[in-house]
Amino acid sequence: MPGVEDQKIRLATVWLSGCSGCHMSFLDMDEHLLELQKLVHLVFSPLADHKCFPEGVDVVLVEGAVANTEHLALAQTLRRRSRVVVALGDCAVTGNVPALRNRLDSEGLLQAVYADGERLPGLDPQGEVPQLLPSVLPLHRVIPVDVFLPGCPPAPQSIQAAVGALIQGESFVLPESMRRFG
Ligand code: SF4
Repeated sequence: MPGVEDQKIRLATVWLSGCSGCHMSFLDMDEHLLELQKLVHLVFSPLADHKCFPEGVDVVLVEGAVANTEHLALAQTLRRRSRVVVALGDCAVTGNVPALRNRLDSEGLLQAVYADGERLPGLDPQGEVPQLLPSVLPLHRVIPVDVFLPGCPPAPQSIQAAVGALIQGESFVLPESMRRFG
């Protein structure tokens, strides 16, 4: 017979190219987090110290845009391993501020900072720094997205409503009255 932990919804949160403000808004659910933790098992998140995105995730909240090869690989992995993918916040939904990046001369900058500049011991810029994509992309440009939760950041009430519906297995479309663009 499955234990209580086995019956919990497997929730993940991911931080790509964003400022962490969307995760802060998630934490701003305050006391509702106590209710949430009775229903979900947080299986991957920058709020904890998980290393690998696991199999069998029910709902994943993705903050941030896709800026480099590491983000792209993680986005593709989380899509394969998750039932519901949520684009959390304007950076994931539209690209937002991070989309202004990468059009700079990134090769020249990397050369100046990592190759010509003062070397950090043990740092191999070729091996350690993920390759930037030609442009920063919103999440739906690289993988199918099930739910869009705009806002910069989305209000905690919006996140609470979305997560509450999704962990009950309901579909979710953000009501107009709850949309907040910062
Ligand atoms: Fe930060 Fe706004 Fe982007 Fe969220 S949507 S990661 S709050 S800049």
